[in-house]
Amino acid sequence: MRIRDLLEEVTEAIFPSNIYCIVCGSLIDRSRTYSLCDECVTQMHWITGRTCSICGKALPDTYLGRDSDGRPVCYDCQMRSHDFTRGWSCLTYGLHEREVMMDIKYNGKGYIARKMGDVMFDRMEHLIETALSESMLPFDMVIPVPVSQKRLAKRGYNQSELMARQFVKRWKDFAREAETVTATGCDVARCLCPVLETHVLVRQKETTMLRSLNPEERRLALHGAFAVAPALQHRIIGQNVLLVDDIYTTGATADACSKVLLDAGASAVYLLTLCSGGNRRPKED
Ligand SMILES: [Zn+2]
Ligand SMILES: [Zn+2]
Repeated sequence: MRIRDLLEEVTEAIFPSNIYCIVCGSLIDRSRTYSLCDECVTQMHWITGRTCSICGKALPDTYLGRDSDGRPVCYDCQMRSHDFTRGWSCLTYGLHEREVMMDIKYNGKGYIARKMGDVMFDRMEHLIETALSESMLPFDMVIPVPVSQKRLAKRGYNQSELMARQFVKRWKDFAREAETVTATGCDVARCLCPVLETHVLVRQKETTMLRSLNPEERRLALHGAFAVAPALQHRIIGQNVLLVDDIYTTGATADACSKVLLDAGASAVYLLTLCSGGNRRPKED
């Protein structure tokens, strides 16, 4: 058994994830999807309807903004172009989503981030299934948005990395069931699974209190915050990257990461976020 698997088992034993609802704490049975009770599933803002075809935010039915190609595009994306090609998101940020994020970020409940990795995979399952049925690999590489070493030491984990790890695990399970993985394991040259890459993109600068800044100030504050590790740059040249982050608001973080990845030679950067919308980001990483 690998150390990581062992640690996950120990964490699971200390913080059993399938006994209490991860949002409200009410008792649930172990078989519940995402470890959420019925009430919380109902209260959360799952993105299932119209979305911005660039950033993936949910669009209200009454909003009719479109780009020059006639695709639905949110107001923010009409105002500003992005460095990522397109994005998907799972939940619109509201009170319950805030509870989930606070528990993950400030209450040490990393196991919830893994459940949210399941949410992210399920959001993308149709796209992945379609791609695999055509023997296409839509993303070569999955890269979580990194946190600084200081924050990593304090929190003990990077929540986006936990989500990305679970997302890739589910993808591998899915591909294995679809028999696209060879018996020798998951070599990307032979199978249709992306590689989880957690060392190429690094955070060089701590950014705090981004929530109090306007979009332009956020972009300035993030200047130089991310970099590609020079020794590992070769890994991303020509790759289609799926960047994974927990919350999307203005896209400043996603753009800053996408820009350094593209400058370093990535072919394209796509974006998958757990939550989007709302301007009440609890705290930027
Ligand atoms: Zn609940
Ligand atoms: Zn948008």
